[in-house]
Amino acid sequence: MYNKLIFEISQPGKIGVSLPDVDVPRKENVIPKDLLRQGRIGLPEVSEPEVVRHFVNLSNKNHHIDKGFYPLGSCTMKYNPKINEQTCRLSGFAGLHPMQDAKDAQGALRLMYELGEALKEVSGMDGITLQPAAGAHGELTGLLIMRAYHESKGNARKKVIIPDSAHGTNPASIITAGYEVVQIPSGPDGLIDLDALKAALDQDVAAMMITNPNTLGLFESRILEVAEAVHKVGALLYMDGANLNALMGIARPGDMNFDVVHINLHKTFSTPHGGGGPGSGPVAVKKRLIPFLPEPNSMKDGTTYRWADPSPQSIGRVGAFYGNFGVMVRAYTYIIMMGAEGLRKVSERAVINANYLRRKLEAHFDLPYKRTPMHEVVFSGDHQKEYGVKTTDVAKRLLDYGFHAPTIYFPLIVHEALMIEPTESESKETLDAFADAMIKICEEAKSNPELLHGAPHTTPVGRLNEALAARLLDLHYKTAESSKT
Ligand SMILES: *Cc1c(COP(=O)(O)O)cnc(C)c1O
Repeated sequence: MYNKLIFEISQPGKIGVSLPDVDVPRKENVIPKDLLRQGRIGLPEVSEPEVVRHFVNLSNKNHHIDKGFYPLGSCTMKYNPKINEQTCRLSGFAGLHPMQDAKDAQGALRLMYELGEALKEVSGMDGITLQPAAGAHGELTGLLIMRAYHESKGNARKKVIIPDSAHGTNPASIITAGYEVVQIPSGPDGLIDLDALKAALDQDVAAMMITNPNTLGLFESRILEVAEAVHKVGALLYMDGANLNALMGIARPGDMNFDVVHINLHKTFSTPHGGGGPGSGPVAVKKRLIPFLPEPNSMKDGTTYRWADPSPQSIGRVGAFYGNFGVMVRAYTYIIMMGAEGLRKVSERAVINANYLRRKLEAHFDLPYKRTPMHEVVFSGDHQKEYGVKTTDVAKRLLDYGFHAPTIYFPLIVHEALMIEPTESESKETLDAFADAMIKICEEAKSNPELLHGAPHTTPVGRLNEALAARLLDLHYKTAESSKT
């Protein structure tokens, strides 16, 4: 019965709430006739236990972080402490109107100010905005800040350089900000090729955007030389800091001479994400870029907090009001609970966990870049391909063992890529179970490739034709009756 739609369980007259009878006289004709509903509303009619069981069972059909391991690379799908959910639901935060006078919302302003200060400390930067609502939104904001900076010097410039390992949002943000994308190849070690970079640098380059550690999970060890070369032509260095999980308390983008960095609160600072839930992509900058930050920003004035005075050079607002405040409350809670020591431990363990999986799996999967990875490790399924098994088959088969698949086919520079990010929140037992499943799948690839081609076999929905689903999108609800015709 739990495979039915809630409309199919519905029975006329069933009700899920019990309200007392009305104890005031009924008034007729309060609402004009033409505004009244003519027919039945058509909502499902179910009892309270039926509706609860329906949704609990639905939630279990899906894979989620509260149910099992979710090693999706470049996403930091870590466990999110439930205390964050309690604090962000405190009525003083959740019920606060965004147009409330600052003097009546001192707690919220203080929280935003202190969160900003903490993130500046973690990133080693001088100024920050909490407004952007996602990582990609932070990228666009950062690019607009850099554009405003160059314009203030009389020339917005034309191009932004990215390595070929860049996250897909980087080129999209560059185009949206009105710049041209210049892509340079990575060196054989998976790092930025300094010669290729120097050849691409000229007075038309506004900035270079890089992820560090990069999307291969590798730390850009020549970052200071990269920064020097970029700054030499008057360009700025942008860090896609979506994955700060590897660095907290150990290394700071500001000390690596980055000028701008965005941070994904919904990855590193533990807000549930995926499925397009609320995010937050604060952008931190060096001193010379502070005048261009979006506004308003909370500041401390003696013992109280207020919105800072407008700057004539600000790029203005990049969203409604102040950003996704609930995500900020979660991040603040997480930072306060962890403390500086705790954040450092997070990064150390995230790196140790990724390296543990690397060691356990490197005899079974190709490892195209052999350097020690940071918080994630990228394997290739090239070897399995010899048995006619693709990375997508390996990923689908993992679902049968109760694990979410890693990120696959990204970064683009790795054939049949499998990008695994275990995060710090997983135990050795979980990592061992995952490695066992991966090794078992390798054996299955040899002995029974057909099994993998048909996977998953145990999930509520089997292998879908993904290309067909994208091309013939049909969102109409079909009843058992209509689907027969
Ligand atoms: C997740 C991620 C982004 C994009 O963040 P969104 O919040 O999904 O927009 C950008 N760059 C990298 C490296 C990422 O991992």
